[in-house]
Amino acid sequence: MRFLSLGSGSRGNATLLQSGETLLLLDCGFTRKELQRRLSLVDLACDDIDAILLTHEHSDHLRGAQALSRHHAIPVWATAGTLRGSEWAESSELHQINANSGDFRIGDIRITPFTVPHDAAEPCQYVFADSRKRVGILTDAGSVTSHIVSQLQQLDALLLEFNHDQQMLRNGPYPRSLQLRVGGDHGHLSNAQSIGLLGQLDHQNWQHLVAAHISEKNNDPQLVRSALDSFDTSMASRFSVLNQEKPSRWFDLG
Ligand SMILES: [Zn+2]
Ligand SMILES: [Zn+2]
Repeated sequence: MRFLSLGSGSRGNATLLQSGETLLLLDCGFTRKELQRRLSLVDLACDDIDAILLTHEHSDHLRGAQALSRHHAIPVWATAGTLRGSEWAESSELHQINANSGDFRIGDIRITPFTVPHDAAEPCQYVFADSRKRVGILTDAGSVTSHIVSQLQQLDALLLEFNHDQQMLRNGPYPRSLQLRVGGDHGHLSNAQSIGLLGQLDHQNWQHLVAAHISEKNNDPQLVRSALDSFDTSMASRFSVLNQEKPSRWFDLG
């Protein structure tokens, strides 16, 4: 199993996961053209993608998803609420997910969706597993619930939102209403909330911790790194911070 971010942040998110013969795309927050460009940077093409999974209908996760699915006949998995919220119009192959009814399989990857508190119609996040390794993905969660904590146990890697620094958000350029939305219980995780979550997870043996969905206006990668360092310095060599502008390397789970 391995994974790669094609870009992450409030202007677009897309993540690849691969095991055996199966290549999944989680969210498509870039236009189809831009996704194509980013895929080519990592020697892949749209036709290599076996399935698209969606977390929710916000445009930074959905932007090019319909066009990609339609042009390349790629099947899509999403909750009923996400499909409704995105006004999914195309006749591409659709698979409706119920985030409360356990896992399902696409090719060589087993997928467990789980619900999160976020201000979308029916948002979910995922754990991806093959016969050897488990990768958790958590972005776009306004708060850490006991359900989230229970879903993210026994992982080998986690891609985790570090959206904002609370002080930078408070003193930043967003209007008050947006500050309240982002920092609220159905918005996004702050650095402190994500560190708090790590403290509830058995992270000692993880191979990768990848910081995602970092706000360009209300956070600073340096703050994210120092928050992690003061939590657990032993994670530093396994820690990466994603970028809005360009794809990451592959994070391999050997
Ligand atoms: Zn988002
Ligand atoms: Zn969102």
